[in-house]
Order: sequence, then C-alpha cells, then structure tokens
Amino acid sequence: MFPNDAACADFLFGLRYPSGFACPACGSTKAWPAGPLREMICDGGHRTSITAGTLMHRTRQPLQTWFHAAFLVSTLTPGISALQFQRQLGLTRYETAFQMLHKLRSGLVDPERTPLAVEVEVDELYVGGVEEGRPGRGALDKALVIGGVEVVRYEGKGKDGSLVEKMRAGRVRLNVIPDAAATTLVPWVQKNVAAGAKVVTDGNASYNRLGSLGYLHEQVLATHKGEKTGHYLPLVHLIVSNLKRWLMGTHKGAVLPKHLQAYLNEFTFRFNRRFWRGPAFTRALGLAVSAEAWPEYDTLYASGTEDGWEHPDTRLNADASR
Ligand SMILES: [Zn+2]
Repeated sequence: MFPNDAACADFLFGLRYPSGFACPACGSTKAWPAGPLREMICDGGHRTSITAGTLMHRTRQPLQTWFHAAFLVSTLTPGISALQFQRQLGLTRYETAFQMLHKLRSGLVDPERTPLAVEVEVDELYVGGVEEGRPGRGALDKALVIGGVEVVRYEGKGKDGSLVEKMRAGRVRLNVIPDAAATTLVPWVQKNVAAGAKVVTDGNASYNRLGSLGYLHEQVLATHKGEKTGHYLPLVHLIVSNLKRWLMGTHKGAVLPKHLQAYLNEFTFRFNRRFWRGPAFTRALGLAVSAEAWPEYDTLYASGTEDGWEHPDTRLNADASR
C-alpha cells in the first residue's frame, strides 16, 4: 500500500481530513500541498503540517520508515528487539531504532490489560497429549486447562432480515491448573474476571462460592451425561476445540504439559488481538488516539448496535479491517 512517502502522506491526509482539508487558522478550504508533502498551505498563507500531533512530527526519518516500523510493531509479537528492528528497517544508528520502537510501543493498547468482564463462560478441560482415544498413553500427557471467555451479545440480522440477539467470543484467558478444586478455580476467577460480572460455569461444586464473592453466578446443569459439550458453555468449548485442533495439527500433539502454558499464551495473544491489527497500526503511528476518535475493544465488537462503534469513513474502515 505504501510504495513511497507520497502514498504515506496521502494515507495520513485521508485519515486526518476525511471530509476534506480546512485550514485550522482561518477555516479556508482552498489549500495546496506545500514543500515535502508534509505541509498544506492555504490561500491565506497559513502552513499546516499533516504530521502535527503524531509521532512523526518533525522527524527526519522518511514517513515510509515510520509506516514500516508501525507495521512491524503492531503485527509481530512484542518480542522484536531494537537490533532486529534496526536491521529490518535498514537504519544506520541503533539509537534511532531504539527510540522509534519505544515511541511506537507507547501508542499501542494491550487488550489484556483489564480483567474479563460483563459475562464470562468458565470451564476446565483436559488438553494436550497424543491423539485422543489412543489407548495407553494420552492420559499421562494431558493437562488440565481452565478457560474463560467473554460472551459478547449484540443485535444482528437473522435469516429473515429481522433483528435477533447474537453472541460471539470476546477476549479469552487460558491457564494450566493443577486440579479442579475450589482452592484452584475460585482464585483463578477472582484474578481473571472483574467483580460484578456474570460468570457461567457447569455444575462443579468447586465454583459454588462465586455467588458470595460478588459475581452473578449461573450454573448450567447437564441433564444427561455427556450432553454438556456444545449445548452448554458453547464459546469456551469452541475455543478449546480450536486450541486442540491447533495443537494437534500444527504441533502434532507433541506438546508436553510442562510446555503447554507457553502455547496457551501464544494462542491467547493471537486470539485477543485478532481484531486489532489495523487499529494497532494507525494507533502506533500516533493517529486518532482519543477515545472519541477511535473504536475501543468493546465498541468495535458491538459495531452495528446502538452502543457500537460507527466507522466514520469507509477508507478508515477498510484499512482497519486488514
Ligand atoms: Zn489559513
């Protein structure tokens, strides 16, 4: 998308002035690009920098370098080092890479920074081991994993076009746990789910205290043995089955319990940021950082509802969905 600095400047311009440029000094809409692409000059002679208020203001680095850097920071894992960063961008000075990296990171938002909230499904399941059903081995390689998934309810169009309530997964948390005792499960919920949230679990008595700890606790009871999967706690089971498929497919199931948490972390990292790549990119550049100007996690999910985010501009929308 960004073969040169002119393309970067165009993108910036479109984001900042979606309905056309107006001079901030006199309001005039008669204006022309001036100098090296980063300035507009109006018919009253006022100069306006299109990078003002962003990380790129008054920088000597090309816009393209900043865009490349923002892409790396917002799409790769946060583990990229300043040295790797310097090499990737072809920067001569390590200090420049170090400073750019820190500036860009400061603009990012971590979707995991707050506990799961509003409505959360919680369940524990066995994960890992060799192929399920293979006798003899599996059980020893399996680990008990607790999962919490935010339930996001929103209004969408049904098959006949009428409005119906739909649900989908919000953020997720996954941890290896030693057992399914109350002394393990209850503190996990307290650490990972905000007080006051509705917590939906199965009938396991270990969860019984949640109601007295400030949660709205709802237990779903299976009427027949084995009927639970899919019908109850559908989101947490969907996520765990995706996790199992990934472990079995990509990693051939060869994940030992002692390493499982690292894989859970990787899975969680990607899952919780699946809607974040586009927003993270422009946010990393220091654009549209105010709450009014950019969708937050919850409002982005609720897009299309009364409380949801309204995309102000189709171009912004298209870029954010990438
Ligand atoms: Zn002016």
